[in-house]
Amino acid sequence: MTEHAIVIGAGLVGCLAALAFHKRGYEVTVYDYRFDPRDDSTQNKNLRSINLAISARGIESLKSVDEQIAKRVLRDVIPMKGRMIHDLQGEQESQIYGLFGECINSIDRAVLNNFLLDELDRYDIDVNFGDKLVRAKFGDRRQTCIFSKMGQDGVTETVECDFVVGCDGAFSSTRYQMQRAMRMDYSQEYIDCCYIELSIPRAKKFNKEFNGNFAIAPDHLHIWPRHNYMLIALANGDGSFTSTFFGPWSLVESLAESKEKTRKFLLQNFPDAMELMGIDEAVHKFMTYPKGALMCVECNPYHIDGGKAIILGDAAHSMVPFYGQGMNCGFEDVKVLMELLDQSKDDRSAAFKRYSETRHEDLVAIIELAKNNYKEMSHDVTSNLFLIKKQLDGALGRLLKNKWLPLYTMVSFRADIPYHRTVEISNRQKVILNQLLVAMVTTGTLLTALGLSRFGTWIKKWFQ
Ligand SMILES: Cc1cc2nc3c(=O)[nH]c(=O)nc-3n(C[C@H](O)[C@H](O)[C@H](O)COP(=O)(O)OP(=O)(O)OC[C@H]3O[C@@H](n4cnc5c(N)ncnc54)[C@H](O)[C@@H]3O)c2cc1C
Repeated sequence: MTEHAIVIGAGLVGCLAALAFHKRGYEVTVYDYRFDPRDDSTQNKNLRSINLAISARGIESLKSVDEQIAKRVLRDVIPMKGRMIHDLQGEQESQIYGLFGECINSIDRAVLNNFLLDELDRYDIDVNFGDKLVRAKFGDRRQTCIFSKMGQDGVTETVECDFVVGCDGAFSSTRYQMQRAMRMDYSQEYIDCCYIELSIPRAKKFNKEFNGNFAIAPDHLHIWPRHNYMLIALANGDGSFTSTFFGPWSLVESLAESKEKTRKFLLQNFPDAMELMGIDEAVHKFMTYPKGALMCVECNPYHIDGGKAIILGDAAHSMVPFYGQGMNCGFEDVKVLMELLDQSKDDRSAAFKRYSETRHEDLVAIIELAKNNYKEMSHDVTSNLFLIKKQLDGALGRLLKNKWLPLYTMVSFRADIPYHRTVEISNRQKVILNQLLVAMVTTGTLLTALGLSRFGTWIKKWFQ
């Protein structure tokens, strides 16, 4: 008899998980407490930031479920080959991401989610909107989920299945219900960083250089790094940019006290961005748009023994967005789990157990990397030492090819290297990089002192 899986959450990861289990021959039913975001009448469609960066891990995971789906998703993306750093004077400096032209890709979150929901329809996967998981009971053979019907006071529905896949985001009810039935380590940490979504409108005139109505280069992720806070912007297909301000809560709360204060702050710190956004519009959004909190969730294990339940995506590992990996990692969860099901010949119990055992170190690694990248994006990108190291790192990467891989390359462009290995390799390379730097600076200084100033200057220049 076909086994029945209930997937909780029709977000990005839930949709991919549902497709993957369906393709393995399971009967899949998806439940989400939202109403169908594709219906015109549905309010609050975008739960979070409007666009996301999808990179190698996300793309490879989509491909692993369905090559055609991946192809269709990639039709709608805008490749970004690097960061564009905007200084206070409005000067822009491009810092390329990849060694050989690799890109991360900007994609509209709603377009991607709706696209995946359409795929569920295409495969006749049953999706129930407006159903909120409120209780789950895990039995020896059957699992029971109780859903509260949104907008229908007190109405509930009870459904049985063989196993539950929780993809219900950072505040996962599945996770909470699992914790009642097992010993799961769990931690949640709020980061002192608030985010507010702003936007740069589509340029009025067609820009030949950018081949579209873009006011700034669409092939870069734009950053206005101001040490303690920053603004970023990613291009949308229509020429507009979704921009996000990140900064400490105390700063945002103090600015919220007065329009004038906010106006002054934005004009002082992001003058060129304000020219593009329109200062009145930016102040209005800054003061009135929702203020998002950022948190990290870590837990372990991710399953209930006997193959009864498992959590994937943000439900299992919410992370701050500074490495652009939350969704990519969630998609990769699905790929990793399917590989383990392959290896265990669909022995769900064994595959879920192995998933918890092997996936944890990768999830802990990317949560930490994401936290650290805030400092890199908001501060380090303006430091000369950082830029020198980055150039040397890149030069070694190009010279030594696969024998030397910058961390960003491994995380964003090498789906074949698990997250925890990227950290190990990078730590080893960091030691060598620092030693090399010291050696080269010493050599340069010595040569200069010995009068071989031209050679010394050449070496120094090489690092600039
Ligand atoms: C500002 C910002 C920028 C980001 N940028 C990037 C990026 O560039 N690249 C990247 O890879 N990631 C990025 N992320 C992270 C990414 O958004 C998340 O990792 C991703 O959305 C997680 O998907 P998910 O399906 O696990 O969870 P969610 O997207 O949260 O979806 C969960 C779903 O479960 C439903 N649900 C919740 N509770 C219940 C319940 N009790 N019953 C039924 N349904 C329920 C919800 O309605 C929702 O549809 C960013 C995040 C933020 C905040």
